[in-house]
Amino acid sequence: KMSRPVQARRLEGVDKNIWVEFVKLAATYSTVNLGQGFPDFPPPDFLKEAFTRALSGEKHMLHQYTRAFGHPPLVKILAQLFGKLLGRELDPMTNVMVTVGAYQALFCCFQAFVDEGDEVIIIEPFFDCYEPMVKMAGGTPVFIPLRPKAPKDGKLMSSADWQLDPAELASKFSERTKAIVLNSPNNPLGKVFSREELELIADLCVKHDALCISDEVYEWLVYDGKEHVRIASLRGMWDRTVSIGSAGKTFSVTGWKVGWTVGPNRLLQHLRTMHQNSVYHCATAAQEVVAQGFQREFERYGKPDSYFVQLPKEMQQKRDQLVQSLVAVGMKPIIPEGTYFLVADISEFKSDVPDVPNSDEPYDSRFAKWMVKNKVNASALFHRIYHGVFVPSRLAVLIRASSGGNTTSGQRPHPDPVLVWKKPGHCLSPW
Ligand code: PMP
Repeated sequence: KMSRPVQARRLEGVDKNIWVEFVKLAATYSTVNLGQGFPDFPPPDFLKEAFTRALSGEKHMLHQYTRAFGHPPLVKILAQLFGKLLGRELDPMTNVMVTVGAYQALFCCFQAFVDEGDEVIIIEPFFDCYEPMVKMAGGTPVFIPLRPKAPKDGKLMSSADWQLDPAELASKFSERTKAIVLNSPNNPLGKVFSREELELIADLCVKHDALCISDEVYEWLVYDGKEHVRIASLRGMWDRTVSIGSAGKTFSVTGWKVGWTVGPNRLLQHLRTMHQNSVYHCATAAQEVVAQGFQREFERYGKPDSYFVQLPKEMQQKRDQLVQSLVAVGMKPIIPEGTYFLVADISEFKSDVPDVPNSDEPYDSRFAKWMVKNKVNASALFHRIYHGVFVPSRLAVLIRASSGGNTTSGQRPHPDPVLVWKKPGHCLSPW
């Protein structure tokens, strides 16, 4: 047996992954897994049919490697569509790169742009992989929370009530700041950043010459007539922004793992370096089919039969139904303006969830496990909150100060619920 450590130093502290734990728990107790963001409904027929044709048709080259930085039909239609949305002409070969899902796009960005000692600003709550990816690149994550404002008249909170404090945000930028990660619509709150909020971020990026890694995988899942504003379209931002998307979220095919980056060649050339030295090719047939899907959507843009119009409409109804069900069982959902996710206040359940003596495991984590393990409670509850319609939702993470909080050993509950989520140093994405 080797006596020296086998793993590289960059793996230290990034070995735990909450999904691995919860997917296993959900399988063990054969309960519904509300924790992971994927649809429980089929993708649109036009896409499934296109895949069948791609696999069984004459074009046998679809079974072979394609262009390393993106299958030509896919980068062409992405350049056309995003060129229109961003109001500029895009070169498919240099302004677009296809990746293995948005996940690989994110990984390429951190590896390509972040050096030892660089700081990367991350807005909380956040999609959990940003932190380990920044650390693996040698960077230091700098966290800034969205802070909730209590709504008036006992109304339910909306994700729009969670906002950045402009002075606090400005205080996080310095000459060490290499980039900020923006995720709008946000996983897990469902917050859709307004134009004003994005302008605030953009102005700070320009002032401090920082990059913006803009994770927009939920760009089509926006509700209540809200507008998804692309930060790359704001003044001074094209040159410093990589916009990231995902066919998984766009067409409800998360298993296909097709993602992309859009940005200026001065940034994308370095993503290509990362890509050619790691993954190199992405699955050809899946790219061909996603290209056909985008072609269809491009022709129907904004029309009632567009999937990009129909999907958010359906998801909005499911959101409303889930909100009602959660309220009925005593939770206080924060109404999401976008995404698959929903965060709810679970403080009412505090007396049901057993304390674990001598443990500083946070309440939200104990609650989640209790939900999974107590099949009677869990299935009854899950049953009521679902009716099989909104699997792609996420449950219950906001711990209120009045519930005793989940602070680590001995600390007094903090009056700010975001801070009460805190692990030492910062608050984590719920699960
Ligand atoms: N970004 C966010 C915010 C996500 O929620 C996800 C998937 N859960 C991804 C990126 C990764 O997307 P993909 O499946 O395309 O890799």
